Amino acid sequence: MIKESTLQTSQAQIRDVVDAGDYYFKVVKAGDRLRITDLEGNQAADTLFFNANNTAERYSAMDTLREQGNAYLTAGSVLQSNLNNPLLEVVADTCGRHDTLGGACSTESNTVRYALEKRCMHACRDSWLLAVSEHPEYGLSKRDLSHNINFFMNVPVTEAGGLTFADGISAPGKYVELEAKMDVIVLVSNCPQLNNPCNAYNPTPIEIAVWSAA
Ligand SMILES: [Zn+2]
Repeated sequence: MIKESTLQTSQAQIRDVVDAGDYYFKVVKAGDRLRITDLEGNQAADTLFFNANNTAERYSAMDTLREQGNAYLTAGSVLQSNLNNPLLEVVADTCGRHDTLGGACSTESNTVRYALEKRCMHACRDSWLLAVSEHPEYGLSKRDLSHNINFFMNVPVTEAGGLTFADGISAPGKYVELEAKMDVIVLVSNCPQLNNPCNAYNPTPIEIAVWSAA
């Protein structure tokens, strides 16, 4: 569902540009708004959320999809935790839908899906691993890197239930905006994938903006 935000990025407290292959790892407080903008279009932002006060509580794809009764995320979606509490709500979306079934790319999946020599190519799980190792203050480790959201990524479910990584439906300047329902750790890998059409074979930067409720 397309729904525009009333907030202006010029009034955001924080604005960060995240290059493809980089990560974003910060806390947003309950009530804050977080906007991820696909600056050049057709990008994928592989995202994990955790309760900042208890990192054993994290985003759960299955709880979210069951509660909303739909396979895609868009405006109105409430992102549920593994304890079935609302972590964030999607309050605006100019892309239309986002994937939470496709998972994140890894060197292992690149090797299996594409070719043996793709083994050394940079992947989202590496960016997450780098993030948690460079920021021990969050208390997260490899075990916490679980199923995720792929903002802007197009993984249509066929009538027969099949999944494919299809060409993106996003475009330059499309954004998704979320309101935090608790203090949340945000961990985004801006996907460096070069082997499938999720980002048109051309990884590009995203912008993350935060409006503080305080
Ligand atoms: Zn990726």
